[in-house]
Amino acid sequence: MANTDVIKNFIDGEWRDSVSGTRIEVDDPSNAETIAVVAEAGPEEVELAVAAAHRVFRERVLIDMHPYDRGRMLFRVADAIEARGDEIATINCIETGKTLNGAHDEVRTAIRYLRYYGGLADKLEGRSIPRGANLVDYTVRSPFGVSAQIVPWNNPLELTARSLACAIATGNSVVVKSPELAPLSGIEIARACESAGLPAGAVNVLTGYGQTTGQALIEHPDVRHIVFTGSVVTGRTVLKTASERIVPCIMELGGKSAAVVYSDANLDCVVEAVRIGTFFNAGQNCNGLTRLLVERSIADELVERVKVCVEGLSVGPGRENCDITPLISQKQRQGVERACETALSQGARLVIGGTALSERSGYFMAATVFADVARDSSLFHKETFGPVLAVTAFDNPKMAVELANGTDQGLAAGVFTRNLDRALWTADRLWAGQAYVNGWYVGGVETPFGGINQSGYGREKGQEALDGYVQTRNVGIQISQPSGSCSSRQGGTP
Ligand code: NAD
Repeated sequence: MANTDVIKNFIDGEWRDSVSGTRIEVDDPSNAETIAVVAEAGPEEVELAVAAAHRVFRERVLIDMHPYDRGRMLFRVADAIEARGDEIATINCIETGKTLNGAHDEVRTAIRYLRYYGGLADKLEGRSIPRGANLVDYTVRSPFGVSAQIVPWNNPLELTARSLACAIATGNSVVVKSPELAPLSGIEIARACESAGLPAGAVNVLTGYGQTTGQALIEHPDVRHIVFTGSVVTGRTVLKTASERIVPCIMELGGKSAAVVYSDANLDCVVEAVRIGTFFNAGQNCNGLTRLLVERSIADELVERVKVCVEGLSVGPGRENCDITPLISQKQRQGVERACETALSQGARLVIGGTALSERSGYFMAATVFADVARDSSLFHKETFGPVLAVTAFDNPKMAVELANGTDQGLAAGVFTRNLDRALWTADRLWAGQAYVNGWYVGGVETPFGGINQSGYGREKGQEALDGYVQTRNVGIQISQPSGSCSSRQGGTP
């Protein structure tokens, strides 16, 4: 798919080269070869994109549209992606390194978000508030204006689609800052918006680095809403900037999600959950299964079963649908290697893996399992964003829940047991935005998703997501009496 043409930014309905002429090279993580060159958006492009999005808002282009028509626009974007689904999946697979099957799933999920929120566009209603005679009172759920959307590289297509769809459904205009390591999926969304005939400036897609382009975008005075999906560390910086101008944010941050496995669990289900939850996309999933908390009586047996599973995983490029695909970059892999070294130095027992697969030209890392991971160790607390599982044993349900909730994050969690009472008791106490029972990634497009504690706040997915894209305004109307006299407000306390 090598493309020698410079891919431009999508601003105000046009494809524009960057004023600075600087470029970003995009790698195939499976072999480190350059697959595309993208124009790097700088402050000038941020200015143009926000100006276009702000004009769309100021002129009420989306707000005055019938919500049904905003929804239909999103359906057309979904249709445009679907029409080129195979091509877009290939691009997504090659730039992120994930499997082709996974990339096809990502395309399908992106389409689902666009159709789901397109369908909800005309169902978001305000309310009428009874206030006695002479007063009519109602609420309006209004957009914020220009929504700046900062996207990470692990699922760039579906994450761009999910925030953009909510914003357009509710009448906000959008400037996306796509991830510098995987910008091509965002470009494909822009192409789909163009062919779907969205009004110029309603959606703008920029590619640039976070600390320059991303920072300039969130600092822009006409940005009135930020959706940030990324790491806790960057999230803090984003929030500091947002606090200067009191800009509301949706924060979708990282996690260190734990699965509690009781001794009566179906261990085949658990191993399958680990295969998908820990190792899919080389573990680069915000809600991946990164900690396995196992009832002590079955800990050795389960660790052995997981080890056998890992030994059977194939390693290779995503386009061959191998089980273990590369990490996104050399830097990412070095971070994961360091996390493994630290785990060893802090007394964890290496069961399998633990090293980079440096005989390969891409950024491959061995699927890794550590047992006896202590609750005060780094591996227990810090997101590695790599194919690394930390196993810790527990003695009773109370201890299991304490361990599960024993980090600063709270994105997802899970419980495996055949006992319904224990499943419900545990799920109720798992302090995470989403809890899975007897499986992993059990949530979907229509189920609310987001963090607790340092995993962030606000919700994406599900109907709840729309609440984060609107602000409630209230209108009170005083009614004149038939006599024509204008009576003052009646009926009790203000
Ligand atoms: P990151 O925080 O390094 O970068 C995320 C995005 O922020 C990138 O587009 C980057 O360019 C941009 N950025 C960096 N500095 C910025 C700044 N000062 N101002 C504005 N933008 C800036 O994260 P990453 O490495 O790209 O992604 C991995 C992280 O994302 C993991 O922590 C993962 O858990 C998290 N994530 C969360 C979710 C979720 O829904 N909760 C989904 C996917 C990934």
